[in-house]
Amino acid sequence: MNRRNFIQLAGIAAGISMAPFSLTARAGEVLPKKGRRVVVVGGGYGGTIVSKYIRMSDPSIEVVMIERNKTFISCPFSNLVIGGSRDLKDNMITYDTLAAKHGIQVVYDEVSAIDVAAKQVRVGAGTISYDRLVLSPGIDFRFEELEGYDALETPKYMPHAWKAGEQTLRLRKQLVDMADGGTVVLSVPVTPFRCPPGPYERISQIAWHLKNHKPRSKLIVLDANPDIVSKGPLFRKAWEKHYKGMIEFHAGNKVTKVDHKAMTVDTGVEEIKGAVVNVVPPQKAGAVAYMAGVVGEDKKWCPVNQVTYESTLVPSVHVIGDACSAGAMPKSGYAANSQAKVCALNIVQLMNGREPIPPSHVNVCYSYVTDKEAISVSAVYKVADGKTIAVPNSGGVSTDLSEEEGVYAHSWIKNILHEMSS
Ligand SMILES: Cc1cc2nc3c(=O)[nH]c(=O)nc-3n(C[C@H](O)[C@H](O)[C@H](O)COP(=O)(O)OP(=O)(O)OC[C@H]3O[C@@H](n4cnc5c(N)ncnc54)[C@H](O)[C@@H]3O)c2cc1C
Repeated sequence: MNRRNFIQLAGIAAGISMAPFSLTARAGEVLPKKGRRVVVVGGGYGGTIVSKYIRMSDPSIEVVMIERNKTFISCPFSNLVIGGSRDLKDNMITYDTLAAKHGIQVVYDEVSAIDVAAKQVRVGAGTISYDRLVLSPGIDFRFEELEGYDALETPKYMPHAWKAGEQTLRLRKQLVDMADGGTVVLSVPVTPFRCPPGPYERISQIAWHLKNHKPRSKLIVLDANPDIVSKGPLFRKAWEKHYKGMIEFHAGNKVTKVDHKAMTVDTGVEEIKGAVVNVVPPQKAGAVAYMAGVVGEDKKWCPVNQVTYESTLVPSVHVIGDACSAGAMPKSGYAANSQAKVCALNIVQLMNGREPIPPSHVNVCYSYVTDKEAISVSAVYKVADGKTIAVPNSGGVSTDLSEEEGVYAHSWIKNILHEMSS
């Protein structure tokens, strides 16, 4: 792809009308390269860890991490904020210690274009050159698949709260303000989406709030999937034990149309109105993946070499976290953390002319079903015939709901946020 095509494609991907122009002619190099350099886009669950582990494995490689926000707000544990048992501040981290301790150059800016031929990333202030690029941008939404959805207006009335922050607090406020006896509607998109058990933890947390503060209210769930996607029997047990008669769960009910003025969602068969409506839209890789041309034929996710996380479409560009397709691994923060470590190690191998090392991954996803009781699912993964698979008999689900699992979950979030920020 030549540079002119690249600029045009980037413009189309971002939905912007751009006259072709030369990337380098317009904007200068922000941080002239001193030696070998990896640029990381995204300072979330994947980006912080890949930056840190490259620097720890080979301090001779420069790492520049580009992130739009000075404070990162974690989605894991944001459902507890919606339920009312956690403060959003406890989900926040900053990057100062991480940067200082490991010599990571953090650039707070928005990546708006990527020139994979020239190996340059565009930010507001100019361009940044790389030898290898790692993308960990998380997700964006396929709003266009929901008739009537206005990307700017609808989330103000029907928050998705699938990126933590303002949306989380908005949904929480709506639940607090709702009158007792009101109906909450929650829609779950088709898989794959960020955090397979996330919607069902959300259901549990909303029900916990209703039970304690609005006991005459009910929660209607419209799930596009044929059944609960993760930990089904345990979630059902929790709903029966704690929220009997409060949750109406409809599997195989895909929301196709929304109307935020009328506060209704439509499945094509039925229109349902809610006092609070939490629409979780279908998802795709974050926009930078489209800018780099690393999105696969499905036009949603990025195919990667499962050992190095290098794109199978564009050399020297690696994709980790929610944006990539990683075989049997779920789109979770823990998976992003594990992929980041493998990707860092193998980038260092490749940049030093050594063979990549086949990975072993781990993932555990905890979900709270009340303010204290939790359940979990875990697995170990390996690569077989080029694909990431779960090692047979390596994991499973917790035997029951328990407060002990809740204690483990608290320890998990404390450790992983500490690892990302120091
Ligand atoms: C409600 C909910 C609950 C969850 N619970 C859990 C859980 O209990 N356990 C678990 O393991 N996972 C959980 N997850 C999933 C977890 O949040 C994601 O899997 C994880 O965040 C993926 O990491 P990532 O690095 O791919 O993306 P992120 O962590 O989202 O990081 C992406 C970063 O890239 C930045 N960025 C993107 N584009 C640009 C750009 N153009 N320029 C500059 N910066 C950019 C963003 O600002 C962001 O900081 C949950 C998710 C949700 C929604």
